[in-house]
Amino acid sequence: MSFNQPQDAAVIPRFAGWPSFMRLPFATSAAGADIALVGVPFDGGTTNRAGARHGPREIRSQSSFMRRVHHVTQVAPYDLVNVVDAGDSPVNPLDLMDSLRLIEAFFRDIRSHGARAIAAGGDHLVTLPILRALATDGPIGMVHFDAHSDTNDRYFGDNLYTHGTPFRRAVEEGLLDPKRVVQIGIRGSIYDSSDLDFAVSNGFRIVFMEEFAERKPEEIMAEARSIIGDQPVYVSFDVDALDPSMAPGTGTPEIGGITTFEAMRMLRCLRGLPIIGADVVEVSPPFDVSNTTSLVGATMMFELLCLMAEVIAANRTTV
Ligand code: MN
Ligand code: MN
Repeated sequence: MSFNQPQDAAVIPRFAGWPSFMRLPFATSAAGADIALVGVPFDGGTTNRAGARHGPREIRSQSSFMRRVHHVTQVAPYDLVNVVDAGDSPVNPLDLMDSLRLIEAFFRDIRSHGARAIAAGGDHLVTLPILRALATDGPIGMVHFDAHSDTNDRYFGDNLYTHGTPFRRAVEEGLLDPKRVVQIGIRGSIYDSSDLDFAVSNGFRIVFMEEFAERKPEEIMAEARSIIGDQPVYVSFDVDALDPSMAPGTGTPEIGGITTFEAMRMLRCLRGLPIIGADVVEVSPPFDVSNTTSLVGATMMFELLCLMAEVIAANRTTV
């Protein structure tokens, strides 16, 4: 096998060496990679507590805790596919619209190399330009873990682009098939009783935390799979889906959330699906405690990596 391998932890201890995602080699592009792990250090869409721009760097650092093999599925992603740390998307911290263009171009470039991206945000607005880069052949489905639906319309006057609006915009732009969107973990106070009307009326399946608590994660995900089908799907993981006791380093915490273990169990239920891209967003290191939330983010990225690597490898051997 000539696939990239993480730095050998038996040779270079995990607190040493370069702090790339999963201790993989860095590359300046996704050329030759099956999966590109990338950062999107942008939090200009944040409406309250900023700081997610620092997410990629700290998630990279905490990803040194990740080992080679998934202990449940036995998937060893670096034996199956070529994975690289393709660096950070360019952003313009002084210009939101320019940042959206830069991020989209970055993800289009990854796609042009035939690679799939797993992104570390950044606030949740970064998912919009990622979807613009991916959904060029028609709307795609999405499994979305979040305390928030992120389908509000506008903020502070007529600003259409914030981390509270990406999935309304994505439906309007034809990037998401709203009938194939499942949102899990939704909770918390809302601005207006009509806040979720857009999502509901367009056909999103919203699993509120109250329903989640009454059902097994595996049940929820079986239903999610029946909604998603076998067509391309994007997975977006906002760490504020998790309870803030387990993921305190985030801009918009909501108590009464999903546990880290429940989240991992749910991600594993996506095994075999054609995931064309994924992200972990809203990790905000300035609000974190002992880097816990960055470790959570890195761990969820590893779960996603194992899912995507297995499917890519399986498709390659059957063609
Ligand atoms: Mn969100
Ligand atoms: Mn959220």
